[in-house]
Amino acid sequence: MRRTLVAANWKMNGNKASNEALLEAFKKGFDGSADTAVFPPALYISQLAESLKGTDIAYGVQNAYFEEKGAYTGELALSMVKEFGCQYVLIGHSERREIFGETDEQIAAKVEATLAADLIPMLCVGETLEEREAGITEKVVKTQIDAVLKKVGIAAFEKIVIAYEPVWAIGTGKTASPEQAQEVHAFIRQLLAAEEADVSQRTRILYGGSVKAASAEALFGQPDIDGGLVGGASLIADEFVAICNAAQ
Ligand code: 13P
Repeated sequence: MRRTLVAANWKMNGNKASNEALLEAFKKGFDGSADTAVFPPALYISQLAESLKGTDIAYGVQNAYFEEKGAYTGELALSMVKEFGCQYVLIGHSERREIFGETDEQIAAKVEATLAADLIPMLCVGETLEEREAGITEKVVKTQIDAVLKKVGIAAFEKIVIAYEPVWAIGTGKTASPEQAQEVHAFIRQLLAAEEADVSQRTRILYGGSVKAASAEALFGQPDIDGGLVGGASLIADEFVAICNAAQ
């Protein structure tokens, strides 16, 4: 019912030549068993548009602003993102929250504006190590999701993809175990179900945090894990192809 989605978050990595090599290897090796999307640095969106033409591989930006236009130096409007053929917008990644100080309110406004532009928000949530150790993982994730629910309402979650990314698992090599991840995914689905059961069954919830080819199949096999958001391993062609092909 929920088709697996595997997304590559390249973060601030790559150049024209390495991007092309990655995309060529991906197009060649990918068996089509999942939906896929690639999030390159925004300057390379045109390169992806050209390279991925005629394929089913989608692409998107790692961030965009909620205002339509104007004096917002350094920001991208969603109309621009749309004009370049993006389908997805990554919103509220923990690096945006931590390093750039994005708040739940700004993130909710970005989700709302992304939906209004007819693009798919991929909303990132997740707890830090301190928060997990303090036993407040569910509280943290609930607060992050509630801010968006309050802004756009449950019906909008039909079109939103959620990525659960525990901060302690990002770039650390410490993947959450399939059971640890499943527990939080099930909790997120319950939060949505408390609002509207049908919608909760259709929302895709991805796991992110040190996903590797070796861990992908077990993660994707969990009942509430609908795919992955992959950072480091998405920059290694063979790894990323194997992760995508691990989808059933
Ligand atoms: P890693 O796969 O490098 O841990 O990064 C995960 C991530 O932040 C994807 O958005």
